[in-house]
Amino acid sequence: RNALEIKGLRKTYRGNVEALKGIDLTVKEGDFFALLGPNGAGKSTTIGIIASLVNKSDGKVVIFGDDMDKDLVKAKSHIGLVPQEFNFNQFETLLQIVCNQAGYYGVPRPLALQRAEKYLKQLDLWEKRNMAARTLSGGMKRRLMIARALMHEPKVLILDEPTAGVDIEIRRSMWTFLQEINRQGITIILTTHYLEEAEMLCRNIAIIDKGRIIENTSMKGLLSKL
Ligand code: ADP
Ligand code: ADP
Repeated sequence: RNALEIKGLRKTYRGNVEALKGIDLTVKEGDFFALLGPNGAGKSTTIGIIASLVNKSDGKVVIFGDDMDKDLVKAKSHIGLVPQEFNFNQFETLLQIVCNQAGYYGVPRPLALQRAEKYLKQLDLWEKRNMAARTLSGGMKRRLMIARALMHEPKVLILDEPTAGVDIEIRRSMWTFLQEINRQGITIILTTHYLEEAEMLCRNIAIIDKGRIIENTSMKGLLSKL
């Protein structure tokens, strides 16, 4: 089964910026997949479209068998998104932030609380659950966004530059956590401009440049070419 199938994906922003020029991409269920490329290559645009934050200009996106054009709600329910910017209310507590997210997806309150405890503990944030999010360090805020993205137990977790601006120790612990949930069966797709991060974590990789996929291979295959 495929977690993600993208065919002929195009995006032209207003002002005629061709951010994506016809992308084909397949990610298998259970994969740990990296979309690697320099700044401006089209990584965030691709992720934005998959998460339906950005409208595509053309092409097809199918998530766990659900076509975004035919069944958007179902397609979206498979995805947990960890965006690049901190986009939670800084004045809410961690518990409020993750439980509200569960609420959007219709997770009943008692179950939401159970999951909040599970994920905040796993991400080493449980002690801080009643603190306002603004009091957290940058690395903690990143982990909070991961916990939030897991609250509806998505099949695929998508992370946009998850370790940008995070120091090396926190980065390592985030990597370990992502590997652990991947082992438990969640498909992971991340964007990065660090080859090292992709190399550490990912089984398969696509390299995007100027809106085109220029390489799509296993991590081993890529390394053998370098
Ligand atoms: P990456 O995530 O790889 O850095 P992006 O997807 O953010 O790349 O950007 C791809 C291209 O689209 C860049 O040329 C960028 O300037 C442009 N772009 C991104 N967002 C917008 C927008 N909202 N309006 C116009 N152009 C945009
Ligand atoms: P402080 O400890 O000074 O309150 P943080 O530890 O929360 O700040 O983060 C350090 C700085 O890094 C902040 O200014 C934060 O906005 C910024 N930062 C790092 N990564 C990101 C990101 N991906 N999006 C937005 N801001 C970020």
